[in-house]
Formats: sequence, C-alpha cells, structure tokens
Amino acid sequence: MIPSVLPTYNRAPLTFVKGEGSWLVEADGRRFLDLGAGIAVNALGHAHPALVAALTGQAQQLWHVSNLYRIPQQEMLADKLVAATFADTVFFTNSGTEACELAVKMARKYWHDRNRPERTDIITFEGSFHGRSSAGIAAAGSEKMTKGFGPLLPGFIHLLWGDHDALRAAITDTVGAILIEPVQGEGGIRPLPDQCLKGLRDLCDEHGLLLILDEVQCGMGRTGRLFAHEWAGVEPDIMMVAKGIGGGFPLGAVLATEQAASGMTAGTHGSTYGGNPLACAVGAAVMDIVATPEFLSEVNRRAGQLRQGLESLVASHPSVFEAVRGSGLMLGLKCKPANLDVVAAAYDALLITVPAADNVIRLLPPLTLTEDEVAEALRRLDAAARSLAPA
Ligand SMILES: *Cc1c(COP(=O)(O)O)cnc(C)c1O
Repeated sequence: MIPSVLPTYNRAPLTFVKGEGSWLVEADGRRFLDLGAGIAVNALGHAHPALVAALTGQAQQLWHVSNLYRIPQQEMLADKLVAATFADTVFFTNSGTEACELAVKMARKYWHDRNRPERTDIITFEGSFHGRSSAGIAAAGSEKMTKGFGPLLPGFIHLLWGDHDALRAAITDTVGAILIEPVQGEGGIRPLPDQCLKGLRDLCDEHGLLLILDEVQCGMGRTGRLFAHEWAGVEPDIMMVAKGIGGGFPLGAVLATEQAASGMTAGTHGSTYGGNPLACAVGAAVMDIVATPEFLSEVNRRAGQLRQGLESLVASHPSVFEAVRGSGLMLGLKCKPANLDVVAAAYDALLITVPAADNVIRLLPPLTLTEDEVAEALRRLDAAARSLAPA
C-alpha cells in the first residue's frame, strides 16, 4: 500500500525533534552536529534568536495579505537586496524552483519585447540543478530528472561543463541567455573558476545575451561573499536566490537589473504567497545579519579552518576520501566508497552531511558554525572515515 506521504524520497531513519544552533536533537535524544543545514537553508543555524524574534513578532501582527496590496516587509527586504547587489529590482517566490520559472519567463519576455521573439533558447550546463518544475528539469536536462516526464519544455541547450568550443558554437540567433550555477551544488560541489565566469560575462556582452546565475545554493554568504559571483568581479543580469535567504522559512527571489526586468510589467507574473509579510520579515532579519562585512569575514575564517582540516583528513584517509573541493562553507569531499555509505557512517558518528552527484558528500554547515564546532566536525568525520577504512 502506498504510504500516506508520497514516497518520492529515500529517507534516512532519523527524526529530529529540536534544533539549536549547529545541533539537531533526534527523537531518541542523540545530538547530531549538523553540516547539512537542511541543504544550505538554515544559514544561521537552528532557532537563531533574531529569526525567532522576527518570525514571532510578525506572526502576532499579520501573516498574509496577498500581493494585491503593498507589503512594507517585502519592500524593506527588496531595498536591502538592491542596496547590497547588482540588482535594481526583486520578485519574491517561495522556492528556488519558482525563481527558475520567473528567470526563464523574464529572459523570454526581454527578447519578445525587443522584437527578437525567436531568441528563446537558454544555454545550460551538464550537472546543473535548477529545481523540479517543468522548466527546472528541462533546464538541467539530465536523464535522471527528466525521464518519463516528457514532453519537456523546449528552449534549452545543454552543454558539457568546460567545453569552450561547444559554447561558442552553440550561440546562434535563437539563443537569448546563459544560465549557470557559480558553484554547482547537487552536481557535486563543482565551483566554476572565476576566469570562466568572467569569460561567460564577456561572451554574453559580446552577443547581447542575458547572464542568469542560479545562486539558490551558493548565495547568501555561503561562499564567504554575499553572492558567489562577487569573487569573480562580474555581475549577472538576472539571479535566482532561495534556500539561505529565508533561514528555514520558505522564501526565494529573482533579482534583476532594470533592463533585464523591463518586460515584466503589471500582470505578467504573480504569486499568491510570494513575499508575504511573514516570509519577508524573516528574510530581512537574515539579510541584516549575513550582509555585513563582519559576518562574512567570520564565514571566511571558519571556511579556512574547515578546509585546512579537511585537507589533512583526506591525507590521512586516502582509502575513503579523494579530494576536497568547493568554496567557503560550501565544501565537498569526493569519496572512494559509495558516498551514501560515507553519509551513513557519518550518521553513526552523529554528524549530518548531504550526498551529491559525482560520489561527493557535501558539507553545508550553518554559517554560524563556531571554531570548536569545526574541530568537533573534523573529529566526527575522522571517526566515520576510520569505520570505513579497511582494517
Ligand atoms: C535547491 C536548488 C534549487 C531549487 O530550489 P527549491 O527551493 O528546492 O525549489 C534550484 N537551484 C539550485 C542551485 C538549488 O540548489
């Protein structure tokens, strides 16, 4: 008999009942150190006092009104995002997938309104992940995500990661945009080298294409800058944000320049829940903390400590780990045994990690991880590796 919850997940036999900072308490009382953060969502850890205050304070005033009316919390959060980024304007969604939907619509409308309606194609890359909607799976294009769900939304050209010749050749008169993650998350923590992101920006400028960045996972301070593309010193035209921006409350956003967004006039897009007072009150509290130089420099310090520890862990367990990769607190360990076995061994050592493609385990801790917690995480990873290494 089918379970009452649609069985689309292979769930671990763990039930967490409470979260405190970087820690998760299981129903049986065990305390797990959380290097998953709900897949890069709990950017400020669990039950951060400022987020609890923002959420409960807003909950006592007003939860939801609809976008038929002005929403001051939404305007406040949009102002903060515009002040801190390349963007001139923001649309709020409830998820990364919905941000992908709007990014695709925005790019198409941009060309439609410029009398180039044939420029509907968007170039995307192998190993990418842009969500589970029809546009999201068509954009990523992998067999794993698309099989059985056809006909797929047309208009995506899938290229191999790093194939520069194929990229140049793919830019024809029907291409309107390039969509890429600055650091692939689900794909196995694959950072796009800064030079490549610069190269993509130049290519877009040369051909008049829109550069769309998916920073759903790598954004909001995860790499040690507010957004990952800042490391390369380039700016996108459109950017998708979600996960960390709500700190655990469902919230996403599309950020855009005035020009890229010019087609999105009244009536062209909408959302019932997107940007409601509750979500935006929490999002604003997240921004107030994450978008400060002090917070981001702490993230970089912690990232350096964790990275260094992981490098020695790899060196001392060559039969378990192959390499460390990633950026900031978005790190991956390429595994030799099946990554799911490494994730399970880490559970036994009371440590939460997240599997990704390419046989990688992801470390996506709360950005508030302390120095002591870094040391504890390394001890637990070491214990997990010992349990897997041949005796
Ligand atoms: C998680 C993710 C998405 C989809 O976000 P949802 O909130 O699950 O819809 C899109 N892009 C990237 C890069 C992601 O990591």
